[in-house]
Amino acid sequence: MKVLICGAGIAGLTLAWHLERSGWEVELVERAPAFRDGGYLIDFYGPGYEVAELMGLKPRLLEARYPVTELSYVDGGGRRTSHLTMPPDFSAKVVSVLRGDLARAIQDGVRSPVLYGASVEEVRQAGDGVAVRLTDGTERHVDLLVGADGAHSRVRGLVFGDEGRFLRHLGHHVAAYTMYDEVLSERAGRRYEMLTVPGTMAGAYALREGRIALLFLRREPDPAVPADPRAALLSHYGDLGWILPEALPHCPEPPRLYYDQVTQVHLDEWSRGRVVLLGDACHAVSLFAGHGASLAMAGAWILAGELAAGGDVAAALTRYQNRLQPTVTEVQRFGRRFVHWMAPSSQWRVAARDLMLRLAKLPGGGRLFLGALITEGSDLIRPARPVGRAERG
Ligand SMILES: Cc1cc2nc3c(=O)[nH]c(=O)nc-3n(C[C@H](O)[C@H](O)[C@H](O)COP(=O)(O)OP(=O)(O)OC[C@H]3O[C@@H](n4cnc5c(N)ncnc54)[C@H](O)[C@@H]3O)c2cc1C
Repeated sequence: MKVLICGAGIAGLTLAWHLERSGWEVELVERAPAFRDGGYLIDFYGPGYEVAELMGLKPRLLEARYPVTELSYVDGGGRRTSHLTMPPDFSAKVVSVLRGDLARAIQDGVRSPVLYGASVEEVRQAGDGVAVRLTDGTERHVDLLVGADGAHSRVRGLVFGDEGRFLRHLGHHVAAYTMYDEVLSERAGRRYEMLTVPGTMAGAYALREGRIALLFLRREPDPAVPADPRAALLSHYGDLGWILPEALPHCPEPPRLYYDQVTQVHLDEWSRGRVVLLGDACHAVSLFAGHGASLAMAGAWILAGELAAGGDVAAALTRYQNRLQPTVTEVQRFGRRFVHWMAPSSQWRVAARDLMLRLAKLPGGGRLFLGALITEGSDLIRPARPVGRAERG
């Protein structure tokens, strides 16, 4: 069986990893001109982490991880206003890694070809197959086309309709980049520092080798991304103090600067004929929910397992959606509730958040607070299927 996967991100690569081990002929097509490195720091846990363990990736992720020992809120002068020390079992459940390091760990186990700098141009379904024309003019005839191309999926646009029908804007814009500055990196240290003024949040974390990861979140009712995201970032954050006056001049242009609306994706059907969506393309939960990468990997595992079981492809695609969707719905609901805590919209919400952090410092409170953010790995991942790493030739 042949599959074309559009998007070589966390979801697409994980699916390729599993399907090629089940004997599928896999090809990936990726819009970026080369492998996408770096990105932003993600907290990786839950069912996707279980999948990574089953793929034998745990040692690699533990090596690449960044130990976040504390969350601190600072004011414009850099003074700490509140903080939360991570409980000892936090690091047993959560691995903080750069998105690119997680993707690289998966990609290193993928043998299938990736066509970079290209995308899907046209999709024609006929019977048990799909004819796909790519942007380089070439054609593919495959048994299955997978849209693993993120929240603004091109495959979804071509097969399911305009994205306006599926995106749910959560009223914020997000931006992130990594940069090199040994002095700032030293100052940020191994705690996640955040500055909040009502409706705006900026966060920083020191990476290895003098680098630093920055995250920006701002209330913005208009989902449209500004024409010049770098200029918008400088104008909204340039006067807030802390390390920002020194860090913002390093801000790169997109795509090294990640900038987007904060959105969820809601779709009733995840597949149509021999086209199926995976990861953020069909169920983005938003950074407020935190589980996006984890669910992308869990979804790939489930989809590969259902396809590897053989039999009717359409039935496998339905089982994949039925198994994953209840968890997605729950996580999306959690994400919408969490909006007000990450970038509190008013001074009283900032105060309430600080009070919550103080309560979290009481014995057992940290676990309670963090427990709200981290759902345990569920019974989503049943190690019975698909094939594990031991089966690779
Ligand atoms: C700032 C931020 C913080 C986050 N923090 C966390 C966290 O702490 N924990 C967590 O689990 N998740 C987190 N997430 C969410 C997580 O990053 C995503 O849910 C996850 O990356 C989804 O994986 P994906 O492969 O479905 O999509 P993506 O990672 O978006 O990958 C899609 C791939 O498709 C490619 N592509 C796009 N369009 C096309 C096209 N037209 N043709 C071909 N290729 C295309 C892209 O270049 C990309 O390689 C965060 C997200 C953001 C933005």
